[in-house]
Amino acid sequence: MKVFFSQAHRGHTPPFEVFDGGLRVPYLENPDRANRIADALRGAGWAEFCEPLDPGLEPILAVHDREYLDFLASAWTEWLDSAPQDPSTLIPATFALRRSARRPKSLLGRAGYHIMDLSACIMEGTYPAARASAHCALSAARAVVEEERPAFALCRPPGHHAGRDYAGGYCFMNNAAVAAQWLSSKGRVAVLDIDYHAGNGTQDIFYERDDVLTLSIHADPDFEYPHFAGFADERGRGRGLGFHHNFPLPRGTGDAEYLQTLNQALDLIRAFKPRALVVSAGMDIYADDPLGTFTVSAQGIGEIGNRIASLELPTVIVMEGGYANEALGRNILVFLSAFPT
Ligand SMILES: [Zn+2]
Repeated sequence: MKVFFSQAHRGHTPPFEVFDGGLRVPYLENPDRANRIADALRGAGWAEFCEPLDPGLEPILAVHDREYLDFLASAWTEWLDSAPQDPSTLIPATFALRRSARRPKSLLGRAGYHIMDLSACIMEGTYPAARASAHCALSAARAVVEEERPAFALCRPPGHHAGRDYAGGYCFMNNAAVAAQWLSSKGRVAVLDIDYHAGNGTQDIFYERDDVLTLSIHADPDFEYPHFAGFADERGRGRGLGFHHNFPLPRGTGDAEYLQTLNQALDLIRAFKPRALVVSAGMDIYADDPLGTFTVSAQGIGEIGNRIASLELPTVIVMEGGYANEALGRNILVFLSAFPT
């Protein structure tokens, strides 16, 4: 199986993030995550590591606003130029409620406009890392079409919380959406998000589309991040009505309940008859994940892989979250092994 991976991710190492209540903690979405996955895949023998192609910004601009990408590209330099008291990372403390059409001019104003929380910390290597991560997903999509076998995009930073013009939840560019958008020029596409958290960014980007079916299985936003999206009654708008599906699940969801819900999602994908499938593969559904509350086992993750693979669709697997670093390599290996390698 081709694995698209870029070392650019190492440049994105924010020194801390801020949890609810203001607690400053070491950044959970750290380079160790991707390094451990890469090590596990190298040990498996079947992974063929490939550098992503760099076709520039055009395929990324198909899902993100130019002004937002310009902000990401220049934010770090502007931050240092502003002589901040603590220059280690750019985190705004004021956020837009998006009720105003007026866009702020100041750096902190724009940061608050384009960032939805305190986890999307920007530093020197953030933009190059996010760009390379999006290119990994795009390259995997191209490989899947050209070679008609599944490919894995080892994306870091992850992408599914990033919307058309905003960052959040460790995500800056929506890698899965970039892949799905490119694939949609070839035919209908389904995006299945199995990350523990609702894929609000992917939901927003394709919310009015009937040619891209989006489905997300996740912890109920009534108690879990991202809090403002991922509810069952959000089903798309306009032409897209009926083409988005959220499956919110309770705390403590285990293998049996998860697989039952997955079957419902897979039935919807089969009925849609897509030309290709993009899987937002977050491993934070795993029982020991520090950010999750589900109790899905490694065996359960393998069975999730088996059932998705049974769709027999051209499949792009895109790395999203997963913070139990010790188990992360093993879990993604178990998941990918369900597909033809
Ligand atoms: Zn997650």
